[in-house]
Amino acid sequence: DLHIDDIGKRFGAIDVLRGICLRVAAGEFVTLLGPSGCGKSTLLRIIAGLERADQGHVRAGGRGLDAVAPKDRDLAFVFQSYALYPHLSVHDNIAAPLVMRELSSLERLPVIGALLPGAIQRKRSIQERVRQTSGLLKLDALLERRPSALSGGQRQRVALGRAMVRKPKIFLMDEPLANLDAALRIHTRGEIARLHKEMETTTIFVTHDQAEAAALSDRVAVIFGGELRQVAAPADLYREPVDLDVARFLAQPF
Ligand code: ATP
Ligand code: MG
Repeated sequence: DLHIDDIGKRFGAIDVLRGICLRVAAGEFVTLLGPSGCGKSTLLRIIAGLERADQGHVRAGGRGLDAVAPKDRDLAFVFQSYALYPHLSVHDNIAAPLVMRELSSLERLPVIGALLPGAIQRKRSIQERVRQTSGLLKLDALLERRPSALSGGQRQRVALGRAMVRKPKIFLMDEPLANLDAALRIHTRGEIARLHKEMETTTIFVTHDQAEAAALSDRVAVIFGGELRQVAAPADLYREPVDLDVARFLAQPF
């Protein structure tokens, strides 16, 4: 499970996050929902170790993460702007985290600038895992293509594949569907739900799309003005918003 304990963060004079406490059970899907600028991305970045909190702690599986480097945290992160390696095929983009794991840290850096080393890439365990992942995401027919020859939605699925190929315990997604058109959003939303179910990953998802939050989440956490105002199952949230800010936010058309 993931334990967020009294997280606070200031940028200059602004209290971006104040006393955020949230416990996400193993295998649970929790969505952070709230208006633009309320601190959703900042909270995800703190969990991932890409940003330092001024106050509070994050623990995963009973272990404090404060002293754990981002790369050693057993989690994967998908940003809104998915950055694929343009010179690598879909297959090699998905395989990249597995290949990197096989290399010593000294070898890692120059490798990604060239092609991935074939000997490692041909390891049976890596090929098998890439095949499983691309099967789940329906990318089998696209494995030899470069990202420039893919649609936006296909690239998004490759980014999801690259993030989940290591089978992370925790999956953080920051508006991963924001660049897609309405039909593709709904399609990819279904894919995320299916993957979550199959992989039983503990997931924190960020969106300001209420329909998306309601469709995907076990619980929704509403952040407003840097505070976590309410955490509830979608139906309970709409039945009983805890205060006027939450009610007004939920009442916006979506
Ligand atoms: P959106 O829905 O638009 O993505 P968000 O909820 O993800 O918004 P954050 O990106 O977490 O919001 O930003 C929260 C606040 O912190 C904003 O007011 C933003 O301007 C500010 N902020 C974020 N990063 C920094 C930074 N590096 N330096 C200064 N201020 C920052
Ligand atoms: Mg954001």
